[in-house]
Amino acid sequence: MKKILNQIHIIQSDITNAKVDCIVNAANERLIKGGGVDHAIHVAAGPSLPIALRKIGGCPTGEAVLTPGFNLQAKWIIHAVGPIWDEFENHMELKRLLSKTYESIFQIAQSRGFQSIAIPNISTGVYGFPKEEAAQIALVTTQQFLIQNQSKMKVIFYCYEDDNYSIYQKLLSNLM
Ligand code: ADP
Repeated sequence: MKKILNQIHIIQSDITNAKVDCIVNAANERLIKGGGVDHAIHVAAGPSLPIALRKIGGCPTGEAVLTPGFNLQAKWIIHAVGPIWDEFENHMELKRLLSKTYESIFQIAQSRGFQSIAIPNISTGVYGFPKEEAAQIALVTTQQFLIQNQSKMKVIFYCYEDDNYSIYQKLLSNLM
């Protein structure tokens, strides 16, 4: 168990600087440039990224697609679409969709043989998902993937905001 958790890291930093095989983008279903981390990744990756995304065309919530990293240090970008939080929607279903989003990321990463991956706090910005719940889902889904697949992948959560960083620190130390 301890060995698995040694593979999960947290850092408070800009994900576009991550030196990993692949970074994850919190994308939208239309795969067009949005705000937040999506904006930062588009700026850093350069003009070839929107062209590649236009060719793919779209991605349903809970799923993910792969493009090259273009001008990024990371060779690849997984664009994952997390759910939009809505007070009036079925919260269980929104949580299931966020977990599915992380599973979709790991499916691609595993099939490509990536050894290191950097992931932002998907859905916790403009999409408004409660941060504590989102972090819990991210960490548990990651832990399950690593254990079930006996994966050696290094997973680094890039927390941008102070509150997300504290939440991840607290939850990760509880998991350990
Ligand atoms: P979503 O639409 O999925 O909520 P956002 O981009 O609005 O996506 O926010 C997701 C998370 O990414 C938020 O916690 C936000 O603070 C964070 N974020 C924004 N810019 C960056 C960045 N450059 N690197 C890492 N995380 C970032």
